[in-house]
Amino acid sequence: MDVLISESEIQRRVTELAHQIEVDYQGRPLTVVAVLTGSLVFLADLIRNIRLPLRVGLLQASSYRGASTVSTGTLLINESFAPDVAGRDVLLLDDILDTGLTISALAQRMRERGAARVRTAVLLRKIGRQAVPFEPDYTGFSIPDRFVVGYGLDFNDDYRHIPYIGVLTDPLPAADPLP
Ligand code: 5GP
Ligand code: MG
Repeated sequence: MDVLISESEIQRRVTELAHQIEVDYQGRPLTVVAVLTGSLVFLADLIRNIRLPLRVGLLQASSYRGASTVSTGTLLINESFAPDVAGRDVLLLDDILDTGLTISALAQRMRERGAARVRTAVLLRKIGRQAVPFEPDYTGFSIPDRFVVGYGLDFNDDYRHIPYIGVLTDPLPAADPLP
């Protein structure tokens, strides 16, 4: 695995984002809604650096199935753990903005459920992949178009616990050189 963003770079940037959020939400009670499962680690680190009253809610959305690294284009949303957002300021968190379909659909859902204002934060944003126009309010890092894992992001449900963002290298050993 190649390290794309180190643990200390992530910690520094997440703390910066938290402080920016703290300034922007002074006097506005906040509901942070994180998209499971990928944004779990980001959520945990971010909220511990926001010194404001805040509620936490969870949504589950998935478009990647099993071992595939290609979106099917079908977004599945599970709202069983979604908080009541009516009249609240919502900050929607996702791990990565790729095509933008997930976060834009979920932001729309929060508005339909009566949120007073919806803002969005993504840890990562892939350059050159966006399929729908969408501007997140907070972005951790812009990254090249590579499949990344770690810090909450998985490949086939593994690697979420890796503390840095990495790019999987070919798991097959290099072929022996010809004699
Ligand atoms: P979008 O709807 O923006 O195309 O995709 C967002 C979702 O796709 C993310 O929440 C994430 O679950 C998944 N995704 C997109 N790119 C990557 C990637 O490079 N690595 C991993 N692990 N998931 C990704
Ligand atoms: Mg996701």
